Amino acid sequence: MAHIFGPVPSRRLGRSLGVDLVPPKTCTYDCLYCEVGPTTHLTLKRRAYRVEEILRELKGYLEHPSQPLDFITLTGSGEPTLNLGLNEVIGAVKALTGVKVAVLTNGSLLYREEVRREIRGADVILPSLDAGREETFRRLNRPHPRLSLALLVSGLKALRREFSGAVWLEVMLLKGLNDGEEELTALRDLLRQISPDLVQLNTAVRPVADSQAQALDLAEMEAIAGFLGPGVEVVAQPPAERALPGEITDEEVLQMVARRPMTARDLALALGKPLKQVDRILGHLVSHGRLAREVHQGQDFYRSFPAFRSKEMNLHI
Ligand code: SF4
Repeated sequence: MAHIFGPVPSRRLGRSLGVDLVPPKTCTYDCLYCEVGPTTHLTLKRRAYRVEEILRELKGYLEHPSQPLDFITLTGSGEPTLNLGLNEVIGAVKALTGVKVAVLTNGSLLYREEVRREIRGADVILPSLDAGREETFRRLNRPHPRLSLALLVSGLKALRREFSGAVWLEVMLLKGLNDGEEELTALRDLLRQISPDLVQLNTAVRPVADSQAQALDLAEMEAIAGFLGPGVEVVAQPPAERALPGEITDEEVLQMVARRPMTARDLALALGKPLKQVDRILGHLVSHGRLAREVHQGQDFYRSFPAFRSKEMNLHI
């Protein structure tokens, strides 16, 4: 399926079926830490990206779901609110299933009233805010020139006022980029103004678009959570998972790593299979040239070949 992936074990959403609403790599930002790779289509223009196809795939999957789901998550190989079919997809999911709907967004278009209106059928919205100052916002998120931190914050505040579901705000912390005291103090002020239900701290635990984006360690993350105040948690660890019976296929593994790099453990958790079985299939796929292995922060990650873009990556094929 081209637009549906998973279910994957999400650190924030449990077992989540992903729905990819935009083609790679269509986004309003070009973040240093993007796991999808550099943005090739930086835009603010919303379009109806293959809405019929997405709905057909969703319907097909939900008729025979392979595993129980905690969430259906609208996301994308870019920014999902760029799809004009957002409201229609949320409505279709609600009509087809009782599974909760989450939208993973960078939040950049929430300043537009129509986007907030279209998104309000979701149960949880997970926007991002990585910077307390304009300069850091530009350096880290590399947004479309017509966007600004002030516009982003105005959209987040309006969402908080109008949306009756939960708002879980993600902050991606990167070493030397947004972990200094001045930056964190400014960020804390903005978080107080926005007042989300939850603030979730993440760091670059997977291979990312730009090698400037370096992860913090857990102790540093926890110290920052304490500094930012109550309602702030660290989510940079994968959740525990239950094992499911049966063998996995090469295609299942290839589909999982097509959108983001994963470790053998991530895959074992996502597929609900023993690590040994996953290791065996990964070894087979790498030796037959169907997958690449890459070392990041001392861990082996697996991803499909077309997603490799950075020459700086340390490849073990
Ligand atoms: S991390 Fe998200 S917001 Fe940033 S460039 Fe990638 S897809 Fe866009």
